[in-house]
Amino acid sequence: MAPAHTGATKTTGGAHFLAWNKVFGKISCGRVRSADKIAADFQFGEIMKKLLALTAIAAAVVGAHAQDFPSKPISIVVPFAAGGPTDRVARDLAEALRKPLGGVSIVVDNVPGAGSSIGAAKVARANPDGYTLLLNHIGMSTIPTLVRNVPFKVETDFEYLGIVNDVPMTLISKPSMQANNYKELSAWIAANKGKINLGNAGVGSASHLCGLLFQTATKTEMTPVPYKGTAPAITDLIGGQIDLLCDQTTNTSPQIEAKKVKAFAVTTNKRLTTPLLKDLPTLQESGLKDFQVTIWHGLYAPKGTPAAITKKLNDALKVALKDPDFIKKQEGLGAVVANDGRIEPDGHKKFVAAEIAKWSPIIKAAGVYAD
Ligand code: ASP
Repeated sequence: MAPAHTGATKTTGGAHFLAWNKVFGKISCGRVRSADKIAADFQFGEIMKKLLALTAIAAAVVGAHAQDFPSKPISIVVPFAAGGPTDRVARDLAEALRKPLGGVSIVVDNVPGAGSSIGAAKVARANPDGYTLLLNHIGMSTIPTLVRNVPFKVETDFEYLGIVNDVPMTLISKPSMQANNYKELSAWIAANKGKINLGNAGVGSASHLCGLLFQTATKTEMTPVPYKGTAPAITDLIGGQIDLLCDQTTNTSPQIEAKKVKAFAVTTNKRLTTPLLKDLPTLQESGLKDFQVTIWHGLYAPKGTPAAITKKLNDALKVALKDPDFIKKQEGLGAVVANDGRIEPDGHKKFVAAEIAKWSPIIKAAGVYAD
């Protein structure tokens, strides 16, 4: 008996199966296709109806979530070690954000490594529900050029919530450094070429960028010593394990005040007005023409966070940035709290794009890649 056109056909031999398929397959396929098409059209309509219903439910759920937001603790990912300058800003900010966000707890989650790329990637992949945020610094604009294989896209993987502050950097050394001013330091650098250890918070970090520019400007190659943040780097600097570090005033001010490190210059184009730092020369006036780095910090949510939630977060940020306690703490550490168009999501996004455009050619011209 001829085999039925079932799987049994295959058992009758390859040639037979092929012939059968060639003759009947097309016809039967033609017939089945039109029946299929009717069924498919029907199914498509049904699926569309279900999808629309689901979309409406999802919108209602998101709306309800946005209305209730925040109803559980928010976590701010700091992509550097605890106790460092980014951590300092995040902790002060978390405190200032609590009240405008209805008293919810805001915890700081330190996810250090790879000059902030690990923490930033974690937030880029997080659930976009407003409960996982990122506080990061200038690295958001330098990493895309400094590190060529970053696992996220700064421009498209985040919702921008606003710039928080601007922070100058200081060039500091181990306490046992024999130099007492920038002129003596530059003589010491010239005399110790090839033997100088320069700490940083990992490739692509602010201290890394500042250190790279410093080496280019002084035409001196130094040995980079990477840490998970400048908190551990400064501990080693105090202990004399490394010689130099370029770091934000939010981290260096207490150590300069306690005379645990020596400070030589600031990286801004004007001297600072903070009483503790006002006598430090700028690197520009010390002879490093055009040397200027100011670190800014911004707050981000994963791309796709509902607009109603990002608005609540931005509104809360704007209240926090006016909080007198927050301003006082930040100013005491040499930081300037943001108070311009960059505190709006659009202004923040445009500013980061402009920073990427500013740093990219400088980094490329210096040929200072991290990988
Ligand atoms: N100041 C660090 C940097 O150099 C980051 C940190 O530890 O917060 O990027």
